[in-house]
Amino acid sequence: MKQIIIFGECMVELFQLVDNVYHQAFAGDVYNTAVYCKRSAPAQLNLKFLSAVGTDLVSDKLIAQLEQEKLDSTLVLRTKTARPGLYMINTDCFGERSFVYWRDSSAAKQSLALFRQHSTVAHLLPADVFYFSGISLAILSLEDRTYLFSLIKELKAQGVQIVFDPNYRPALWPDAEICRANFDQAYALSDLALPGLDDHKVLYGSSSAADVLAQLQQLGVKEIIVKNGSSGVLGVSDGKSFQCPAVPVKKVIDTTAAGDSFNGGYLAGRLNGLSALASCQYAAALASFVVEHTGAIVTKEQFRSFSGR
Ligand code: ADP
Repeated sequence: MKQIIIFGECMVELFQLVDNVYHQAFAGDVYNTAVYCKRSAPAQLNLKFLSAVGTDLVSDKLIAQLEQEKLDSTLVLRTKTARPGLYMINTDCFGERSFVYWRDSSAAKQSLALFRQHSTVAHLLPADVFYFSGISLAILSLEDRTYLFSLIKELKAQGVQIVFDPNYRPALWPDAEICRANFDQAYALSDLALPGLDDHKVLYGSSSAADVLAQLQQLGVKEIIVKNGSSGVLGVSDGKSFQCPAVPVKKVIDTTAAGDSFNGGYLAGRLNGLSALASCQYAAALASFVVEHTGAIVTKEQFRSFSGR
């Protein structure tokens, strides 16, 4: 079984059903990717979630949820001083959704500080892939971010493939310049990058997917997949560039986790020996299915109906 470490935060999600009635779930960018990756290749991949939770009942439920999804929770650390982050999705009378977050003091922010108290890079090995995002970076203190980059360098030296999705969230960064400096460092260490064109338009002023490709090639990234919503993706792998269209959908219901599910499907495809193009085709089909359904994570039953297509 291939070993994949997924580093970041999983939060409690409260999704408004009707006035003052909420459905509770768990979600977060890298968690969503882990779920879709594992569901896509359950027998071939072991996904270890590297994070931290509290010692409260909700944290126990979060761990139980990881286990339900057959994710490996042995790298989820516990702290007595914090709880999981939380966000609410509310819908106004015009059907517009808005997100409100309580994550400033979440347990996941302590994950690397807790990790290095008792562990070293050896505790992460053997591993085939280390996956992280711009959100995983943004929630860390400056000291922990520096530690993360040194950890990634050591993993890379051990032959671990480094995978990064910038997932730019302006509210999580003090300013765009600091964010760009961190992303440039992350890209320079990455073997595979999965950016969205929209993120690069806002953060770097890129005007096209080709711009993003050229920028990341300059930073030394060998495999790059630039996602561009319903316009599909532009990719490069083994020195060859290619395009892959999105799979048209009858009606977009909710674009939450479109990029996350694409990443999970793409990783599963690549780690299962598919070409970059074939992996994009699978990932695009999965992401199009996800945008036709409500919420970040489709039910297991819905996923089975997708797999059976
Ligand atoms: P990100 O959230 O990372 O910016 P995108 O919005 O580009 O990601 O979406 C990721 C993938 O999801 C796209 O490459 C495409 O395959 C699929 N996707 C997103 N929006 C649509 C849509 N409206 N119709 C079909 N597929 C879509």
